[in-house]
Amino acid sequence: MEDVATPEAFARDPVLVQRFYDARRENLKRVEPNAAHAALARLDEAWPGGLLIVTQNVDDLHERAGAKRLLHMHGELNSAWCRACDARMAWSGAMGGDPACPGCGVAGRLRPDIVWFGEMPYEMERIDRALMEADLFVSIGTSGNVCPAAGFVQTARQVGALTLEINLEPSQSSYLFDESRTGRAGELVPAWVEEMLE
Ligand SMILES: [Zn+2]
Repeated sequence: MEDVATPEAFARDPVLVQRFYDARRENLKRVEPNAAHAALARLDEAWPGGLLIVTQNVDDLHERAGAKRLLHMHGELNSAWCRACDARMAWSGAMGGDPACPGCGVAGRLRPDIVWFGEMPYEMERIDRALMEADLFVSIGTSGNVCPAAGFVQTARQVGALTLEINLEPSQSSYLFDESRTGRAGELVPAWVEEMLE
């Protein structure tokens, strides 16, 4: 696979990188939220206490399912970042072809608002604050070996939160969790949300 997820790749071949993300952005229009997205949105709506859904996904399926208390730590496909004026803006069409920034009018300086390898994930302070206040930390559908997300469970444990992992298979960090449930997220997440809202 060609390298399309680093700042260096974008500097070297912006046309290739924009084509890759334009295709992924276009593909979003053909996928729908699944049962796990729907269950988390239901939890978000019904849970009276604090809650923060932190996703590494760059799609908009959580939003389309209805989630509100949501944070995209690795950016969003449907967002553009103008390197001329530093503004970030909703963007659903193609970014290739050097369109002008609607904010500052400069053409050819928009890049996908995606956190690439070597770049700092978004809103780490807000994530840390949520972890420090957490009574329960749930990791869903992640291998747990991508930093810094892999450290979240350790922070949660340090402040005494209960920790639950829901994953297709046991992960490398399963041993860090109080409980590990393995199976399809589309089945396990709705079941867990039912338990939470009972
Ligand atoms: Zn701009």
